[in-house]
Amino acid sequence: MDLGITGKTALVTGGDSGIGWETAQLLLREGATVVVSDLDQDNLQEAAGRLDAAEGTLHAVAADLSSDAAAVQLAVDVHALVGDIDILVQSAGITGAQGRFHEIDDNGWTQALTVDLLGPIRLTRAFLPQLRKGGWGRIVYLASEDAVQPYDDELPYCAAKAGVLAFAKGLSRSYAAEGLLVNCVSPAFIATPMTDKMMQKRAEGRGSGVEEAIESFLDEERPYMELGRRGEPHEVAAVIAFLCSDLASFVNGSNYRVDSGSVATI
Ligand code: NAD
Repeated sequence: MDLGITGKTALVTGGDSGIGWETAQLLLREGATVVVSDLDQDNLQEAAGRLDAAEGTLHAVAADLSSDAAAVQLAVDVHALVGDIDILVQSAGITGAQGRFHEIDDNGWTQALTVDLLGPIRLTRAFLPQLRKGGWGRIVYLASEDAVQPYDDELPYCAAKAGVLAFAKGLSRSYAAEGLLVNCVSPAFIATPMTDKMMQKRAEGRGSGVEEAIESFLDEERPYMELGRRGEPHEVAAVIAFLCSDLASFVNGSNYRVDSGSVATI
């Protein structure tokens, strides 16, 4: 399917791993110019080296998006490399502090809110002038099932992702008439390093293997994931790529769940 984004320029944060990496791959296959960004220069270069850029053009710029200054610098660096971007996919994120409310201190809250909520806000502020210029733009934020179905062992993450949904919905009202469309994608339990770490910890806590930990997590903690398995990053990237495309020309302010039914409500 032609997504109509050949020649468009995209920034994908969280691009060295999981959902971000797969999204970068799909956008490259569609002929886009893609800048991947992530925390660590060496990891990022290695991950970029695994991307097939035969159809598009690929650049990699490292940035730690836990400060406003870094977001502003990234906008300067990206502009110097590729000019204005048309597409922003904000996939960088952390699980943050886990545990019940009384076990999480202010530092735990600050860390998750800084990366998972302020990160997308600062990135958007830094890149907005570029995104508004072309009369055609797309922003896709990675929220989570946790945004609308909060779990009590990761409240900072839930609160941050709920904030992303509210922020994105409000922002989608501001510039749509100019052609800048804003949407969210909310995955659940995708097989990436983020959930690998969670399952490793669960396995250690239960004295079980990782596969057993995954099975028990699905049975006990995610009963509405009707497909009974972890999702694959490419299954999320497909929806993100659609929202980045010209085909999604009437989709704005939405939240697409890619969770095999995990969110129990309609
Ligand atoms: P991942 O851990 O594979 O990728 C996240 C990337 O973000 C990592 O490469 C990490 O280095 C980067 N990152 C973290 N902090 C950063 C910072 N300060 N600056 C720059 N980069 C930073 O995880 P993933 O599963 O691909 O997650 C992608 C997005 O999807 C995240 O926002 C996550 O919250 C969301 N999400 C994932 C799942 C899931 O089940 N995997 C479910 C719901 C939502």
